[in-house]
Amino acid sequence: MINKKRLINTFKTLIRIDSLAYKEAKVMAYLGKELKKLGIRSTFQGRPAGGEVGSLIADVPGQGKRILLNAHVDTVTPGKKIKPIQDGKYIFSDGKTVLGADDKTGVAVILEVLRVLKEKKLKHLRLKVIFTVAEETGLVGARCLPKRVFNGEFCITLDHDRPNEIVYKAPAQQNITVKIYGKSAHAGIHPELGLNAIKIASIAIAKMRFGRIDSETTSNIGIIEGGKATNIIPDRVVIRGEARSHNPKKLEREIEQMKRVLTEICAKYGARVKIKVEKVYHSFEIKKSAQVLKLASRAIIKAGLKPVYKQTGGGSDANIFNAAGIPTVILGSGMHQVHTTKEYANINEIIKGAEVVLNMILGGDNEKAN
Ligand SMILES: [Zn+2]
Repeated sequence: MINKKRLINTFKTLIRIDSLAYKEAKVMAYLGKELKKLGIRSTFQGRPAGGEVGSLIADVPGQGKRILLNAHVDTVTPGKKIKPIQDGKYIFSDGKTVLGADDKTGVAVILEVLRVLKEKKLKHLRLKVIFTVAEETGLVGARCLPKRVFNGEFCITLDHDRPNEIVYKAPAQQNITVKIYGKSAHAGIHPELGLNAIKIASIAIAKMRFGRIDSETTSNIGIIEGGKATNIIPDRVVIRGEARSHNPKKLEREIEQMKRVLTEICAKYGARVKIKVEKVYHSFEIKKSAQVLKLASRAIIKAGLKPVYKQTGGGSDANIFNAAGIPTVILGSGMHQVHTTKEYANINEIIKGAEVVLNMILGGDNEKAN
């Protein structure tokens, strides 16, 4: 039932519209117009500070339970003037930018499914489409959504690679920002009057534990900034890091460990330190017995694939939806090597992704499953 050519053309059209985080107005205008052609009215809600536009929300009447369909429209850098290049069954960028298959494969899949429903006059469940903005900058768009949007039986977030995989478990994340204050002095004339913040930061970082902590926990120091000139003893260093875990206690433990090392080392060398910890999102785990997992699994089998349950190490809008009380699974739509200039999309997987979503929301089967 999926119109493969139309789906892939839509994907390429979406790719050609720049939509870095906070700059999504153009792509949203396109989506609003396409939905209007299907007789679907959309509104924009929860515009983040500094963003051009809010997330697109559209209700699609149907029968029975309301299902949320979600994908994000923003892409990471380098993501301006992306050129989709098809090579056989794959679509790449020209190597200078990401492709933006994350998450425009998901957006294209949802649009195609809505077109098929209308075109074939299919019976389907009630739907709420949520195209979010600013996902890549810490799920900001989803976090800005008003509470009333989180209203439905379950949610399907398309933001994953393989269409036979069901992501049911994701970690929580906390970010840590550290400012270490030393004392500046002329490095050649009065080095003994200075207190080198770079040196203190280095000692602390070398003492910290980070990387792959265990099977459900990771942490990282990703940014160090400091220093002005080689002849000035640096008086300020900023360190930014993160920790993620499926286990909230382990997440706390890793953040505490980083804080403890920093406090100890800074005290030892007489430097002042400021530490800020931010909870980015909560973890989630959907029970294997949940209806949404059964439906997803059945839809994947119906699409001729073998369902595989997966956990992820990343965060997505699904973390926000789950935290808001809507059981949300992440399904795949053929994106690979995301957040790199080698990113590509697998055409067959995009099509399968659309089949899976369509199978999940069609009337007949779902009625029986309930
Ligand atoms: Zn994504």
